[in-house]
Amino acid sequence: MDSCLFCRIIAGEIPGDFVLQEDDVVAFRDINPKAPVHVLVVPRMHVSSVSELARTSPAILAAMADAAQRIADAETGGHFRWIFNTGENAGQTVFHVHGHVLGGGTLGWSPA
Ligand code: 5GP
Ligand code: ZN
Repeated sequence: MDSCLFCRIIAGEIPGDFVLQEDDVVAFRDINPKAPVHVLVVPRMHVSSVSELARTSPAILAAMADAAQRIADAETGGHFRWIFNTGENAGQTVFHVHGHVLGGGTLGWSPA
């Protein structure tokens, strides 16, 4: 997807502050962090939503969860919140699925 921001970061056309780069999954720091640690975990494959990824490639979603935990283990003592905004009204602005890994210190607002 030439026009997709995250495809372009993954391809190296736009710089990214990468935390990991694996066969199916990459992770890079959010440009506008909302927590002391704010990393985006992203499949290399262009898929727009987490549900589409779960339907078509569940093993890649599992690899993303594993990557998220390893990032948290390295940076936040293993504690993190993992958020997928899905749809414009929920705040999704980049339509290449990504899980926000948020952590470090005590997070503020929580749904529970
Ligand atoms: P969404 O709102 O779609 O859930 O999340 C998109 C995220 O991408 C936002 O948190 C935003 O700060 C981040 N973002 C937008 N443009 C860039 C960029 O060029 N580089 C990086 N590293 N993050 C970006
Ligand atoms: Zn993409």
